[in-house]
Amino acid sequence: MRIILFGPPGAGKGTQAKLIQEKYGIPQLSTGEMFRAAIKNETDLGKRVKSIMESGELVPDQTVVDLVAETLIDPKYDNGYILDGFPRTIAQAEAFDRILEENGNELDTFISLEVEDDELIKRIMARGEGRSDDTPEKVKVRLEVYNNETAPVKNYYEQQGKLSIVNGLGSIDEIFERLTSLLDNL
Ligand code: AMP
Repeated sequence: MRIILFGPPGAGKGTQAKLIQEKYGIPQLSTGEMFRAAIKNETDLGKRVKSIMESGELVPDQTVVDLVAETLIDPKYDNGYILDGFPRTIAQAEAFDRILEENGNELDTFISLEVEDDELIKRIMARGEGRSDDTPEKVKVRLEVYNNETAPVKNYYEQQGKLSIVNGLGSIDEIFERLTSLLDNL
């Protein structure tokens, strides 16, 4: 099963991707987590993306696409994966289509987890993960970037007939229940 879990910052993608990983035994691939690990480990990639990430802006498409393409070579992704935080621009979505094609694979579904802006800000401020991009100013930038650059990605997959919409309001369990009923019926 190959799934994209899509939604604004604070929608709960990471939490739900981990639950899906556990239940269905398919690995989560989170570009944001990979960048945070690279920064922590002070790798070359980490040094290149640190200031961009901390500003709340997007890392350049080519950097993200190369990272995803290299990561997917690992056989642990052969039976599927959940993408969390990628693709975030139309250019990334187009590049991902090429990666799928080269690997002879197809995307099963693109799930848009939908939550309104007011609730997103509340959740990010409450999550207390200590992320350097979780301050009120950075969250504002991330939401703007999402609305301008990332939101159009949903239409891209709608045109491909891959879009599933899931209400992201409610408890973690309630949202997970909605996701599993969708995935069980694929
Ligand atoms: P996330 O953990 O998904 O919220 O990502 C945190 C930050 O990492 C984002 O605000 C971006 O700076 C960067 N990032 C993660 N994924 C991507 C992506 N697909 N494209 C560009 N930047 C990304």
